[in-house]
Amino acid sequence: KNAPPALRDVVEAARAFGDQRIFLVYEDERASFEAFYRAVSAFARELQSKGVVKGDRVAVIMRNLPEWPVAFYAAASIGAIVTPLNAWWTGPELEYGLVDSGTKVAIVDAERLGRIFEHLPNCPELKTVYVSRQVEEVSHPEVIRLESVLGGTNDWMKLPDQPLPAVEIHPDDDATIFYTSGTTGKPKGALATQRNINSNIMAAGSIAARAFLRRGETPPAPDPNAPQRSSLLSVPFFHATGCFAVLNPTLFGGGKVVMMHKWEPVRAFELIERERVTMAGGVPTIAWQLIEHPARGNYDLSSLESVAYGGAPSAPELVRRIVETFPKSQAGNGWGMTETSATATNHGAEDYQNRPDSCGPAVAVTDLKIMSVEGDRELPIGEVGELWCKGPQVVKGYWNKPEATAQTFVDGWVKTGDLARLDAEGFCYIIDRAKDMLIRGGENIYCIEVENVLYDHPAVMDAALVGIPHKTLGEEPGAVVTLKPGAEASEAELRGFVAERLAAFKVPVRILFWHETLPRNANGKIMKNELKKLFLDA
Ligand code: ATP
Ligand code: MG
Repeated sequence: KNAPPALRDVVEAARAFGDQRIFLVYEDERASFEAFYRAVSAFARELQSKGVVKGDRVAVIMRNLPEWPVAFYAAASIGAIVTPLNAWWTGPELEYGLVDSGTKVAIVDAERLGRIFEHLPNCPELKTVYVSRQVEEVSHPEVIRLESVLGGTNDWMKLPDQPLPAVEIHPDDDATIFYTSGTTGKPKGALATQRNINSNIMAAGSIAARAFLRRGETPPAPDPNAPQRSSLLSVPFFHATGCFAVLNPTLFGGGKVVMMHKWEPVRAFELIERERVTMAGGVPTIAWQLIEHPARGNYDLSSLESVAYGGAPSAPELVRRIVETFPKSQAGNGWGMTETSATATNHGAEDYQNRPDSCGPAVAVTDLKIMSVEGDRELPIGEVGELWCKGPQVVKGYWNKPEATAQTFVDGWVKTGDLARLDAEGFCYIIDRAKDMLIRGGENIYCIEVENVLYDHPAVMDAALVGIPHKTLGEEPGAVVTLKPGAEASEAELRGFVAERLAAFKVPVRILFWHETLPRNANGKIMKNELKKLFLDA
């Protein structure tokens, strides 16, 4: 076979790690690589028995559970288009996802079944629903208990030893529809091919190698006796980050995925200690909570080798704090979007410490360029404009949205909607989202710049800048801030702190204090629309 690997080849290759090495950990449940393979193979056959063929959409709608990757790989292995939906969505939002994708089979957890049950009649293409961990009986002809097919996680080794069903898959076959986070509008389904996803798996291990090559050195060979790596999965599987940046490379590399059903810092500490986790992070806000949480000192977190994140802007300050707090650990940052199948730039170690405001250079065989916001000319090095990205991970387009596809994808480039600059060595600096800036009487204010100054204040835990509508100036900057536990700072003090560091027009005219963590969507992005309302009510 002379083609780049498909997702089924990834699960096939990982089987070689056998029945002694653990792949999935969830609470007290554990599955070895062999057990995982058997569950994937059994469920792939089950899907075929329900008539699923190449190109059919199969939705996975659950929180992080061991069944999620089984459903994902089973459907992908027989050429179905896997469509993970956001488990945070309400019933009507899930109906939108099921109808928009034209899903034929859905695999859901008990809570999601409760949400979609009354919407099932509105999803005419949906034929079969599998539900996992459902306590009560379900009396619906098309709802099947997943455990009746697979048993519980700890039973997977008892499933028959049989190969994946034979289905021919090509690198350019459609593989997944992941929905964007919906930060700037209604979530759009990004249609990725097998090649898009696999290029990401192959690029995942290349950070260290690229750093060596840039210095003109040869990367050291991997150590075959190195202990197993393990990743704390603190972000959801259903976004590109959890699936493409954590699940897939960990499966391929023989690592262990330690799942969290939902994010909770103390639970994270317990799991890092118990499972000797080597990689944690996900999104910047999780990294901050690992550092700042008062219970951190009660746990042995010495196994951590890296705290890496992406998906949302992070303060340059975070790099130093990670290295100080976890001396054996490196910080890492990567940029990507659902439309680039997760990671398209990344770096760690000294590269990142020396450029704490960069998200790194492009991963292998990927091009970045900075275009004028009008899109008519490429800008020289150092100038800020819209970031465009081209590479094997850039998806084909949006499912069912020809207009949005034509606007966003041009000759293999994706127009990212992010404002950025590149330096002479190719490192990328995200300035802001094109939509996350405000114009105060003609002066541009990049939210991130002001937020980063607020983060530098010792009392500030979390900060967001939003535009407050203003009659003559258009917009004025307002900030919402969360303070660290036990810390104090007044509005006047924080405004003074910003005024000492930035031009007067950038200083927030109002600062509101928020007593919990700022409202974020499942990808760690602050939901600024909600915060804007605070100023309108205030
Ligand atoms: P929607 O497209 O529906 O509005 P979204 O853009 O938030 O939602 P995602 O695809 O999850 O959906 O997120 C991609 C965006 O996340 C990028 O365009 C960028 O703005 C931001 N982002 C990702 N990684 C980083 C990073 N390392 N630093 C700064 N911003 C990042
Ligand atoms: Mg986007």
